[in-house]
Amino acid sequence: MKLTVVGLGPGAGEDLTGRARQAIAQADLVVGYSAYIALIRDAFPNKEMISTGMKQEEARCRAAVAAAAGGKNVAVVCSGDAGIYGMAGLVYEVAQEYPPIEIEVIPGITAACGGAAVLGAPLTHDFAVISLSDLLTPWQTISRRLEAAAEADFVICLYNPRSRGRAEALRRACDILLRHKPAETVCGFVRNIGREGEQAVTLTLEALRDNEEVDMFTTVFVGNRQTMLLNGRMVTPRGYLQRARSGDAAEGTDCPEPPAYETKAEKE
Ligand code: SAH
Repeated sequence: MKLTVVGLGPGAGEDLTGRARQAIAQADLVVGYSAYIALIRDAFPNKEMISTGMKQEEARCRAAVAAAAGGKNVAVVCSGDAGIYGMAGLVYEVAQEYPPIEIEVIPGITAACGGAAVLGAPLTHDFAVISLSDLLTPWQTISRRLEAAAEADFVICLYNPRSRGRAEALRRACDILLRHKPAETVCGFVRNIGREGEQAVTLTLEALRDNEEVDMFTTVFVGNRQTMLLNGRMVTPRGYLQRARSGDAAEGTDCPEPPAYETKAEKE
């Protein structure tokens, strides 16, 4: 009948939004990866739940879509936000092959937001989010995006930074970033955001390159040229104080003035 794709937030407990909680409460069936089902099982003890292992994303989506097409209210749960490296896209793709169902995506707090809040305020300016997983994306594409984001001095947030099977991914990524970002660039990472064992670390880009603690339950933050440590917190200034001090928004930055926008009327 209806399928909701629900982001649980990074920790699933207190990070669950009201809408997410309601969608799960109203579902006849909840489908998700076993680790995420485990996070919500206690809060919804009488709910029918199907949990599947990692790398069974397609099977999980098909089971959910088929159940919804069969008349059930189904919630597919993902960690963080379901539309950010989550199942939302796959649900829409798979649903093409089934009788029409109503699909609703319920947003959640993604790891970038959860981790940024733990570290301080690293994402207060333009940032790029890049996954280092080459399971579905060729490394060549990942490396081109890393290069472009570093060259443009984005703050960079790395998902899937390192796993046992991809122990070198973070080092390789840092080598690319170091071509454009200084070795002392302020970086940070957070493991197990919002979960037991939450751990936050700040370090330089050079030190991040050789870090062995980062794993697949970690989100990594690489600062831009303005990012700094303030009382141990990773902060990227938005520019308010810098503007007030210089008296001119354009002064004191490396960036040229952006071109003035032309409106259609002016062109004609
Ligand atoms: N949909 C998720 C992302 C899934 S990709 C979201 O929006 O957050 C999986 C990656 O997300 C992990 O490798 C890690 O980099 C990050 N991640 C997800 N949950 C996390 C958590 N609780 N703590 C730290 N990193 C997390």
